[in-house]
Amino acid sequence: MTDISGRTAVVTGGGSGIGRGLAEALAAEGAAVAVADIILENAQAVAEAINAAGGRAMAVHCDVCERDSVFAMKAAINAELGPVSLLFANAGATSFERITDMEVNDVDWIIQVNLMGVTNCLLAFYPDMVAARDGHIFATASTAGLMPTFVPYHAPYSAAKLGIIGMLLNLSVEAAEFGIGSTVLCPGGVQSGMKDNNARYRPERFGGPGEGGVRVPKEFVAHDDLVFRPPEEVAELCLQAVRNNRLM
Ligand code: NAD
Repeated sequence: MTDISGRTAVVTGGGSGIGRGLAEALAAEGAAVAVADIILENAQAVAEAINAAGGRAMAVHCDVCERDSVFAMKAAINAELGPVSLLFANAGATSFERITDMEVNDVDWIIQVNLMGVTNCLLAFYPDMVAARDGHIFATASTAGLMPTFVPYHAPYSAAKLGIIGMLLNLSVEAAEFGIGSTVLCPGGVQSGMKDNNARYRPERFGGPGEGGVRVPKEFVAHDDLVFRPPEEVAELCLQAVRNNRLM
């Protein structure tokens, strides 16, 4: 069992959606939480809400695509909350469009945010856990990585999420040697802010808030039975997996 209380956790993409749910659930269990996001004001709002409810949280800016930014985030967290033993590499983004409609930069961006974002966080935080022989690594993948044809028109995202699954499954073996747990989450539909967030940090690509967001081709057929779950419910399932050292 991994005890969450009294630990320091970092949640990337903590300013919105699943990350916000994770940050709040971790704080409610007594963890000190670093809420990291590329949109700093969202991270600040989450940290303020946690502190107002009697928890302990800090907000920190981070672009998970940039290794220097991830290491600067780590230094800021270590200075304020001490060493991190719970890593939630959760930040992610996508668009829904044919790969022939995408610029090379867009493909790179999706691989960078999703796959390299998790990789950069592991590079920053995992060695300290190995040295301490303690901790838990968690990453948010997607059903898009498990069943790539279920929701079409986001091929680079499926590739990145399948990459995350492979990395976490492989790492789980060596992490276990040091008593470090691993969880890779593969959610289906979750109510989140991805549409607006995309538009806010990449306005040149997606337009301003309310104008663009996640692009959806007109051929896109949403599955009638696709249920979008509330992020709080997903966060609780995640913490159960972390507590019990379950892989998925
Ligand atoms: P969200 O947009 O509400 O949250 C994602 C957060 O990541 C945002 O706060 C955003 O600002 C942040 N972010 C984006 N790029 C970043 C970067 N470069 N550096 C730091 N932060 C960055 O969406 P969500 O659904 O809560 O997404 C969380 C995770 O869940 C993602 O990895 C996503 O791919 C995954 N996921 C979501 C769904 C769904 O249906 N919502 C399904 C499967 C997987």
